[in-house]
Amino acid sequence: MTQPATFADPISPDEFMSTAAKTSPSGSSAWAAMYAGDIRRAWMEHASEDARTVQRHLGPSELGVECDRQVAGKMAELPATNHVVDPWASIRGRALHAMAEDVFTADNLRRGLARWVVEQRVTPHPEHPGTADLYDAVEQCVGDHKFVGATTMAKIRKGWPRHYRVQLLLYGLGYFLMGLPVRRVALIAYPATAASLEGLYVRDEMFAGEDGNPLPEVIALLQSVFADTERRKQQAEQIRAGRLRLEDIPATPESDTCYFCPFYRPQAAKDGGPGCPGTTNSGAPS
Ligand code: SF4
Repeated sequence: MTQPATFADPISPDEFMSTAAKTSPSGSSAWAAMYAGDIRRAWMEHASEDARTVQRHLGPSELGVECDRQVAGKMAELPATNHVVDPWASIRGRALHAMAEDVFTADNLRRGLARWVVEQRVTPHPEHPGTADLYDAVEQCVGDHKFVGATTMAKIRKGWPRHYRVQLLLYGLGYFLMGLPVRRVALIAYPATAASLEGLYVRDEMFAGEDGNPLPEVIALLQSVFADTERRKQQAEQIRAGRLRLEDIPATPESDTCYFCPFYRPQAAKDGGPGCPGTTNSGAPS
């Protein structure tokens, strides 16, 4: 299924709408404006090609999304109806993730210590493996880099966005199942649009107790996520079999997730066509 490249990108709708191109690329002359458009085209086409190679199974970053309709629709591989997302934030996030891999690999070499494990495949659930950004063998901590704008940073400082928390705990479970000690998980939020790293913020949660086993509240949350996943798989099968339509699946509209959902199409509220109208205030976010 072709998906816009920014689904998992941690930028808020407000930030997206404020940074999304409202005019065409421009330049100092007619040639320069034409050239700017061609440069932008190369980026857009590359991002679009890249989106076509996205994994078909849902990974840990998607299992904690609260909306049944979005997840079941993805599992059913329904075509995307959201054609407004711009890939720029996703491109930036991917570039910074690649840099982060270099940063922590180089830190191991500089210090002569195999502290950081980067980009490790983990399997918290047999059908939903994923790649964890970072494992810290000294702190026994599983980390995930999020390169975020100011609004999302403010939300992370207030508390856990559920899907990030679930994603981290699933990575933690993946490492635990590999036999490695996991004491805690950490969301590492970088101020992607700021001029310095001063605003770096880490939100952590204990994963295991003194005995090294996952805490009861962690087990309870992940069991509920796996139960949700099974229910959504059944919904997806019903969609594939033509017994249910996307709009028959319960939705949990949230401005933070709808604008980046593959099925978001505000016009669906008026024309009854494909897609999901999403948030009730289906106009551009203010
Ligand atoms: S647009 Fe919003 S409510 Fe609709 S499926 Fe996507 S996330 Fe759910």
